[in-house]
Amino acid sequence: MTDHDRRQFLTLAGTGTAAFVLFGCTGSPARAESFAVTHSDAEWRKRLSPAAYDTLRHEGTERPFSSPLNGEHRAGIFACGGCALPAFSSKTKFESGTGWPSFWAPLPNAVRTRDDSSLGMSRTEVHCSRCGGHLGHVFDDGPKPTGKRYCMNGVALTFRPGAA
Ligand SMILES: [Zn+2]
Repeated sequence: MTDHDRRQFLTLAGTGTAAFVLFGCTGSPARAESFAVTHSDAEWRKRLSPAAYDTLRHEGTERPFSSPLNGEHRAGIFACGGCALPAFSSKTKFESGTGWPSFWAPLPNAVRTRDDSSLGMSRTEVHCSRCGGHLGHVFDDGPKPTGKRYCMNGVALTFRPGAA
């Protein structure tokens, strides 16, 4: 390698680094997290109902007032529809009037969040900490004591009556 070649190589390497950094900032993968429960997209499609699959795996949103869990007021646990991880207790459920099952807090370590700027809005997406399934969004206009409103898709949850 001549000095000239070396200089050119370093210049190219420098350009490559800059491009990588730029890409790293703008092209962040949506699913960089790892989860304890994983399946291929085809497997998820087989395991879930079409509506649950669309919501959990492709961040669909159910029509408001369409979920039977809206009117579910018994004591019990609302679990992730993808992996059955207990996600919300009936103790934190409240009537938000939005048409989606709403809670003011998740169970400890049950969910994770990330920024969601889709649809031209700045929102905080909520997903299951065990399988990554999309559950809904969380907003800052909820009731006391947290002031949070976890706006969930009922189709992404299952309800088990019992001790909450
Ligand atoms: Zn899950």
